[in-house]
Amino acid sequence: MTEAHSIRPEKDTFLAEDDPFEAMMERFDHAAKLLQLDPGLYRVLRSPEKQIIVSIPVMRDSGELEVFTGYRVLYNTSRGPAKGGIRFDLHVTLDEVTALAAWMTWKCALVNIPFGGSKGGVICDPATLSIGELERLTRRYTASIIETLGPDSDVPAPDVNTNERVMAWIMDTYSMHMRHTVTAVVTGKPVAMGGSLGRREATGRGCMFVTRGALARLGMSLARARVAVQGFGNVGSVAANLLAREGATVVALSDKSGGVYNAKGLDVADVERWVRDRGQIAGYPKGEGISNDELLTSDCDVLVPAALENVITKKIAGGVRAKIICEGANGPTTPPADEILEQKGVFVIPDILANAGGVTVSYFEWVQDREGYFWDEDTVNQRLEAIMTRSFTEVMAMVDRHNVSPRIACYMLAVDRVATMHRLRGMYA
Ligand code: NAD
Repeated sequence: MTEAHSIRPEKDTFLAEDDPFEAMMERFDHAAKLLQLDPGLYRVLRSPEKQIIVSIPVMRDSGELEVFTGYRVLYNTSRGPAKGGIRFDLHVTLDEVTALAAWMTWKCALVNIPFGGSKGGVICDPATLSIGELERLTRRYTASIIETLGPDSDVPAPDVNTNERVMAWIMDTYSMHMRHTVTAVVTGKPVAMGGSLGRREATGRGCMFVTRGALARLGMSLARARVAVQGFGNVGSVAANLLAREGATVVALSDKSGGVYNAKGLDVADVERWVRDRGQIAGYPKGEGISNDELLTSDCDVLVPAALENVITKKIAGGVRAKIICEGANGPTTPPADEILEQKGVFVIPDILANAGGVTVSYFEWVQDREGYFWDEDTVNQRLEAIMTRSFTEVMAMVDRHNVSPRIACYMLAVDRVATMHRLRGMYA
């Protein structure tokens, strides 16, 4: 691979505040330098293994034939089958898909599950597609990338605008081509067709485990912690619920519509009922209405950004009052903000650790499908806890040994694991 294939196209965009993917690769560079990675291996790890571009013809309901563009990128498969979601979105680009595939590589290595990293995407606006069109798009995209797919080679999962129904179509299409049912080809499936119990809650649950670890490291406990959570979807609502169940006081919650603050604590189940009835948090009466920026700088011990990337900017970072930030979302903190938080002594549990509970239970789903033997929910949760707490301990050991931030410690651990696998296998070059 030449420099032209580098996913950091120009030095100028390096550390761009609005580019979380560049930010991620900049952190990779930092870790590689500290690990004194040899230049050849550095070049290998900075290059995607395989990038596939496909044209996807889809018959619209009107009878018109349309062609969409889709991508699948396998970034690194040295540690096992590639693992990564598929997104349907108008903003999908090959560069972004490549960077997200790299991100998956580090995340899987960090929690030490035997997967490499991949990502896929189709440029489309799913809101303008009928269910039938979405199904035909999914099936044709699956058929177009079928050579890379498989439980031993590349295992997709849901991502932006894809869900368990899309995973079911992928599983069926792949199985029709293979002439037998292959449930382990995707994760994030409905439980009734080989999905795992506990998968839906896994990311939020993982956030709870690492937050508990971080509090303990600071000599605090969940029972006394005041928590603010941005985003009340899959990750945020589960994290808020579980943190409250462990004794924390949830003082602030928000979603796209705005947020609510109550220093005495919010009843998360009651907020959930409100959202079920009204479709949004804004207007919830048992607290003070706040904006999303106000939530990020609210008076709390733990802040869980669990909505979007790039929300904690350098402008916000100065006002953050939390002692711990648990990054439920991917890329919520920009690099300049990271520096400010570090100076302030805020303990940031980085995304690749904080939200790795999801991919960990995806791994459990793949294992259960291959075993043909399904675990009860307690077993899933206990094994998730074991992996999250072990990973947290390993990251902290790295922090202490190298005197680096938890984020750089995560990248050092992950990059070292992938590099070690390459060294042991030797290079077919
Ligand atoms: P979701 O769609 O279920 O929920 C997103 C929430 O964020 C909603 O409550 C929405 O109202 C809110 N939101 C959207 N725009 C907002 C804005 N501008 N300001 C404040 N809130 C806003 O999504 P999710 O699955 O909970 O994912 C949230 C984040 O976590 C994403 O970054 C995702 O990539 C990451 N993540 C999710 C998983 C998973 O298993 N679901 C795993 C790893 C990482």
